[in-house]
Amino acid sequence: MSRPKSYLIVGAGVFGVSTAYHLIQKYPGASVTLVDRDAFDADSRVAASWDWNKAVRADYDDIVYCQLALEAQDIFNNDPLWKPYFHETGVYWMCRSDYGRKVIDNYRKLGRKAALEVVPVEEARKRYGGLFGDADYTDVKEVLINKTSGWAAAGDCLRAVTRKAMDLGVKYEVADVAGLEIDAQSNCRGITTSAGKTLRADHVILSTGAYTPKLLELCAAKTGRDKLSAGDRIVAGGITTGMAKLDEESVKRFTDMPVGFQGYPADVGPFLGSLPPTKDRQLKWWGWTIFKNTQEVLPGRYLSAPPAEPDYAQWKVTGKLKEDINHANRSFYGKRGAKWTMEKHRICWDAFTTSGDFIISPHPAAKGLYVATCGSFHGFKFFPVLGKYVVQMLEEALTPELAGRWAWDRERPDPKYNPEWPRAEMDDLRDPIQAKL
Ligand SMILES: Cc1cc2nc3c(=O)[nH]c(=O)nc-3n(C[C@H](O)[C@H](O)[C@H](O)COP(=O)(O)OP(=O)(O)OC[C@H]3O[C@@H](n4cnc5c(N)ncnc54)[C@H](O)[C@@H]3O)c2cc1C
Repeated sequence: MSRPKSYLIVGAGVFGVSTAYHLIQKYPGASVTLVDRDAFDADSRVAASWDWNKAVRADYDDIVYCQLALEAQDIFNNDPLWKPYFHETGVYWMCRSDYGRKVIDNYRKLGRKAALEVVPVEEARKRYGGLFGDADYTDVKEVLINKTSGWAAAGDCLRAVTRKAMDLGVKYEVADVAGLEIDAQSNCRGITTSAGKTLRADHVILSTGAYTPKLLELCAAKTGRDKLSAGDRIVAGGITTGMAKLDEESVKRFTDMPVGFQGYPADVGPFLGSLPPTKDRQLKWWGWTIFKNTQEVLPGRYLSAPPAEPDYAQWKVTGKLKEDINHANRSFYGKRGAKWTMEKHRICWDAFTTSGDFIISPHPAAKGLYVATCGSFHGFKFFPVLGKYVVQMLEEALTPELAGRWAWDRERPDPKYNPEWPRAEMDDLRDPIQAKL
């Protein structure tokens, strides 16, 4: 009788948890362990996936992600595990290009009927009781309204699916992973934790989000295997989010609002978002500045990584980054938003590739080592299906198109065409030090 399969998945964000959930359903007898620095039900986590709310939409001009997102959304809409977390409030997307028309075309090509349309600006401004009437429409060509998109209560959903995976037999270990166990034949046999513990498995999958390049760089140095390094394949980027508590009167108007987007061309900036209020009445925005935190991780080796604090210093948000959120607020609500007080700010770290495509791939430097991450600022919505594709990758069953797009080694376009590419440096966004007289 053959030994049951064993899997160690490092990182319990959407990539890792979805993989664990799909694996344990396919192989109920397998040993599947999620390892993460944070407990799955901790009050604060560093995962990009751990958040109050995330947009869930299939509004992509890229037909591959449009199709994947529709597949995921069908699960959000119908599966009792996922359904409670999805809110079909629609999206309101201010387009400065033909984006909206391309999305509609993709739905048509995929044979999907849905309540989506592009609306002239003057007409759109009056929709939803004029909620976005005071937004910045400079250079906006038209507005895409898709009533079938919406948002998910991200942290609650992540917890629920992790719990379900554990009920099915997945183990969850809280540990900081510091190294990889690679034997002389280049087989990856397991991981080591910073507390000195070794965990072994036939398959080691890194779903470590923004920390991935640093982890691989440290492992490359420790094992003397340069090829483990991610090089310029993955860049850690931070984005600020901010939340304001709405007063009684505003909350009535905003409760059923669609997710707002401001889309810009790459030379102007990344898209901005405003998400509907959470159950404790907090409206959320993400900012315009996507930044690296370039640091010397080893003598002479520089790369971007989240700050070294165990919580990635995610709650330490500078005045400049708070201003970034004020800018987002004004872009959606003009003067009306000025009276809301921002109560909470967080820096969210994600792993980016130049094209925005994920990496779901074997790592060529060691047999049994895999990478499944790089959400590139849009990975959450695929949570229900990511694991299905990671399992296909493990079994060499991905379609050639997906295997090519998500490969470790692939053509990487110039990031100048990617509006979401991290362009700023965290160091330049620090507050000035006050002179001490
Ligand atoms: C501000 C912001 C807004 C976003 N909004 C949306 C949105 O509206 N819709 C959408 O679809 N997507 C959105 N995204 C993108 C999405 O959140 C991410 O792409 C996705 O969550 C990434 O998932 P992940 O599993 O790769 O990484 P993460 O969720 O970051 O998980 C990585 C995990 O690895 C663990 N880890 C790392 N290193 C180690 C180690 N050495 N040892 C142990 N554990 C380790 C971490 O603790 C963490 O739990 C947004 C991202 C940001 C930053």
